Amino acid sequence: MVVGGGIVGASAAYHLAVAGAGRVLLLERAERLATGSTGACAGGFRYQFASEVNVRLSQASVPMILRFSEEHGLPLDVWQEGYLFLVRDATAWARSLATVERQRALGVTVEVLSPEEAARLVPGISLEGLVGATFGPEDGIADPSGLTYGYATLARRAGAEIRTGVEVRAIAVRGDRVQGVETSSGWVETRTVVNAAGPWAGLLARTAAVELPLEPIPRHVVTTGPFPGVPARRTLVIDAATSFYLHREGPGVLMGMGSSRERTSFDRTPDERFVAEELVPTAVRVFPPLAEAGLERIWVGLYEMTPDRHPILGPVAGVEGLYLANGFSGHGFQHGPVVGKLLAEMIVDGAARTVDVSALALERFTRGELVTESLVV
Ligand SMILES: Cc1cc2nc3c(=O)[nH]c(=O)nc-3n(C[C@H](O)[C@H](O)[C@H](O)COP(=O)(O)OP(=O)(O)OC[C@H]3O[C@@H](n4cnc5c(N)ncnc54)[C@H](O)[C@@H]3O)c2cc1C
Repeated sequence: MVVGGGIVGASAAYHLAVAGAGRVLLLERAERLATGSTGACAGGFRYQFASEVNVRLSQASVPMILRFSEEHGLPLDVWQEGYLFLVRDATAWARSLATVERQRALGVTVEVLSPEEAARLVPGISLEGLVGATFGPEDGIADPSGLTYGYATLARRAGAEIRTGVEVRAIAVRGDRVQGVETSSGWVETRTVVNAAGPWAGLLARTAAVELPLEPIPRHVVTTGPFPGVPARRTLVIDAATSFYLHREGPGVLMGMGSSRERTSFDRTPDERFVAEELVPTAVRVFPPLAEAGLERIWVGLYEMTPDRHPILGPVAGVEGLYLANGFSGHGFQHGPVVGKLLAEMIVDGAARTVDVSALALERFTRGELVTESLVV
């Protein structure tokens, strides 16, 4: 049983069904799939991470996104036009160069660009204070809802059942084993539960007396209409110091950034003041042509943050049958494909094989063995 119909749950349902896990049931409380973080997401995928485990997850997951249409015969919008990190201070630049060395040692293709080279790649970016940029030509963007519905279609074809409009209210544990779940439409017996409830995963885990160090953090996304100087490329541009990012979307751009007033909350109401006073002024500083752009849509999605900005992945010691795939800290869309595969390996074969994710177990927090990641957008 999989709880949650975002990218992680849909990928898990598909991979479990094709791995021969037996009856696979996915329950999603909304009427549609991909209405949680996945539907709010910017769709970026990248190899440019600072931690080895994140790079390894990308090396396994990004090719699954790139090959999705060819492999499965389903449409998916994918643009592999790179991620460009802009760095505007010397100390941060020294750190970036050290990270580039580590990335290259792990086999990542990453280029170091001068400010002028960066501006040639994406004309319009501000050169003010720019020390340098790193460019990952194999990074890109894809359609999060498209990939979720794609995996859901494949899951159904492989025999999985997907039910929307059903909320899982509690995971029942007797002794040290999962027995089933209480849902809004009754009791479902199951020996295995995958918690893929995104930002709400902590609430679900608590019903099984499992505490997750998980914080929902509201993040704004804004799209614009067309404007003179709109970037032609779909490169995802990130201003490292402010975390402001943008990429071409339709005739305009899609953009977002963290807030100085960031707080833990499940509230997804847009904060117009933050958009007017922080996001838009930063946008115009980083990409001056945006001064001419009209805003089209504003929405808020939830990041699911863990203290070390890495996911919590795998079985829970002491609760047999409960598996976690939570806390992706702003990069769960791109890792969703391989995470579903890893869950199937754990559940059907007894251990993850594709990527060594043993460092991502929940128990790392009680052991104090955190994994660090500095490249959180
Ligand atoms: C603004 C924003 C931008 C982002 N940009 C990127 C990006 O560029 N690249 C990237 O890789 N990642 C990005 N992310 C992160 C990414 O969106 C998430 O990490 C990822 O979508 C998590 O997927 P999920 O399936 O775990 O969660 P979700 O998509 O949130 O799915 C969880 C589902 O569980 C359901 N659910 C919850 N509780 C229950 C219950 N009790 N019973 C039944 N159903 C339940 C919810 O309704 C929801 O549909 C971004 C996130 C945000 C908010």
